[in-house]
Amino acid sequence: ITILGIESSCDDTSAAVIKDQWLLSNVISSQDVHKSYGGVVSELASRAHQANIIPVVETALSKAGVFISDIDAIAYTRGPGLLGSLLVGSSFAKGLALSLGIPIISVNHLQGHVLSHFVLEDSKSQLPKLPFICLLVSGGHTQIILVRSPLDMEVVGQTIDDAAGEAFDKCAKVIGLPYPGGPMIDKLAAEGDPKFIKFSKPKIPNLNFSFSGLKTSFLYTLRDKQEEDKDFINNHLADICASLQSTIIEILLSKLEKAVHTYKVYDVAIAGGVAANSGLRSALSELGKRKGWNIFLPKKQFTTDNAAMIAIAGYYNFKNGKVSPIDEPPLARMPF
Ligand code: ATP
Ligand code: FE
Repeated sequence: ITILGIESSCDDTSAAVIKDQWLLSNVISSQDVHKSYGGVVSELASRAHQANIIPVVETALSKAGVFISDIDAIAYTRGPGLLGSLLVGSSFAKGLALSLGIPIISVNHLQGHVLSHFVLEDSKSQLPKLPFICLLVSGGHTQIILVRSPLDMEVVGQTIDDAAGEAFDKCAKVIGLPYPGGPMIDKLAAEGDPKFIKFSKPKIPNLNFSFSGLKTSFLYTLRDKQEEDKDFINNHLADICASLQSTIIEILLSKLEKAVHTYKVYDVAIAGGVAANSGLRSALSELGKRKGWNIFLPKKQFTTDNAAMIAIAGYYNFKNGKVSPIDEPPLARMPF
């Protein structure tokens, strides 16, 4: 089974080819146009997708060494995401599938993030055992997902307000870092003292998260410090980043630990853009070692948005006889 995957939910245009579970290519074109705006501008994003989609798909096919006629089905991201961006990828996928006379498969972007763990790259690739628990931490979502099988997942906890990635990005803005702030904070935090400032942590029941209080605590703490010393932020940038990052990691891991104990599932994975965070990766590895869990960390190219995860979702659907109608509209908000 050879699947072409197309992802265009936010500001990355991506296409990938998967043959059975094996990755043949995964091409990602990121958009620079948003940098000077401090966030993704949806109109600019959809225009850039239009410019990028054909070359990205062509490159994915040629890198994979397959002809378009070898493709059995096209998987595309239906949602959630920016509607204008989703429209470009979904329209392109549908048009191409119609012209080739092959089926299309609509994919939930978040399930795609989780399924990135099923992509085989080489003989060293290790797949989590089923069932496993996946902490999905991205720019728009923070969820704990119980994965029973590739097509059977349940959200058992999630944020009631901001996502973890959003907390990184919004706090980064407060201290004058460019968008997206997560990778920058990660880098600066490596040089800083995580105990430098204590930020308040939320008290939320069950397996749910909250990050809006942390954002406020961050803003006010720094505002007060700046009043005493107008160079406080500049002088302590690394320590501030390290303190923020360690607070976010503590919040995430305490709930993840609770989920592991609740479900008694000891294979644990992380997915989504924030799964690239080096502090989170090492803290989870250590926790796993201490507790005897099997930890699965995605390679960096599978953390942020990519089409390999959409193609693998398409593969499992196609293998199970699940294809989608051509008239399904993209959805900015899409239930899991
Ligand atoms: P969603 O998947 O929820 O629709 P999205 O697709 O925009 O949102 P992703 O592309 O999965 O989100 O992830 C982007 C987020 O990951 C941004 O918030 C970014 O700051 C964050 N991020 C990326 N790298 C790192 C890192 N090293 N440390 C912390 N955060 C990071
Ligand atoms: Fe994403």
